[in-house]
Amino acid sequence: MSKKVLVCGGGGFIGGHLVKKLKSEGFWVRVCDLKHNEFSPSPADEFVVGDLTDPVVCREVVKGIEEIYQLAADMGGAGYIFTGNNDAAVMYNSATINLNLAEASRLAGVKKIFYSSSACMYPEHNQMDPDNPKCSEESAYPAAPDSEYGWEKLFSERLYLAYNRNHGIQVRVARFHNIFGPEGTWTGGKEKAPAALCRKVAATEEGGTIELWGDGKQTRSFLHVEDCCDAVRLLMESDFSGPVNIGSEEMISINDLARLVMDIAGKHVIIKNIPGPTGVRGRNSDNTLIREKLGWEPKYNLRQGLEKTYPWIATQVAKQLETVS
Ligand code: NAD
Repeated sequence: MSKKVLVCGGGGFIGGHLVKKLKSEGFWVRVCDLKHNEFSPSPADEFVVGDLTDPVVCREVVKGIEEIYQLAADMGGAGYIFTGNNDAAVMYNSATINLNLAEASRLAGVKKIFYSSSACMYPEHNQMDPDNPKCSEESAYPAAPDSEYGWEKLFSERLYLAYNRNHGIQVRVARFHNIFGPEGTWTGGKEKAPAALCRKVAATEEGGTIELWGDGKQTRSFLHVEDCCDAVRLLMESDFSGPVNIGSEEMISINDLARLVMDIAGKHVIIKNIPGPTGVRGRNSDNTLIREKLGWEPKYNLRQGLEKTYPWIATQVAKQLETVS
């Protein structure tokens, strides 16, 4: 009989891709999310629309489940996380989900939980130099994340690891670094840089101007969602708990990312850098540990990942323009 797994947040971007992967591998999959997937129907065997901040919902959805992938979180791009306006909601909602789920899993005898943490939990002071950020796993402490979103991730990493030590639930913790790809949020304020840039380039005429937050010299690395899901599965099947980075080491400045998108789109637009929330100056995944423990490397480089993503976003932009006109 196929193994029964629960994907919390399976109605979202990464969770949605992970559900497809798990189904293709033969798992029986239940999803719990506040909403259905926006862009394509979920192949899940059961889709529970429910709020995981409610302990009763958590107790219901873990019934009969052997393993959990916990990706549900109140999150968004820089416009949501770094303005400070949503700090209380981000901390309350995400911490409550994780507290409820850990306890419900203990009570139900769930064997293993994967938890999706974030590179946002790394100390701000190690990410001030855009050319030389430090994000190796052991650099997490002394802790000093630059956002409440990062603090909550750090708390929940520790929560699951404590449940492992005290209650014997197996735990796998990954720190995702900027995941992107088709069927991700591309508009509305919660989208991340690659999606926002693809949208801006797609929506602007040749020779037009796009506005980018910050001086454009801030650096990041971006990992295609297919690579992310492969690494999650590899980690889950391994005997390594983590926390471990899942990201790309191909660091790029935001202005150069915009130029790469233009190149893929075959279009030139002018970049205007404007003040706005940007987060840390530099961030790059350090894959030394995941290479050593799991032998994992991403299969797509940034250009290849964007080549798979830009056409999807350009299609969404075109559809939206059709609706408006
Ligand atoms: P997403 O917003 O698309 O998915 C999160 C899902 O959680 C959403 O579908 C949302 O409806 C659901 N959710 C939120 N609150 C809920 C609740 N109370 N009850 C039930 N469901 C709830 O985000 P994503 O990009 O797919 O991210 C998945 C996970 O990976 C998150 O935990 C996020 O913090 C983490 N992460 C993502 C990135 C990235 O670049 N996308 C980077 C680092 C970490």
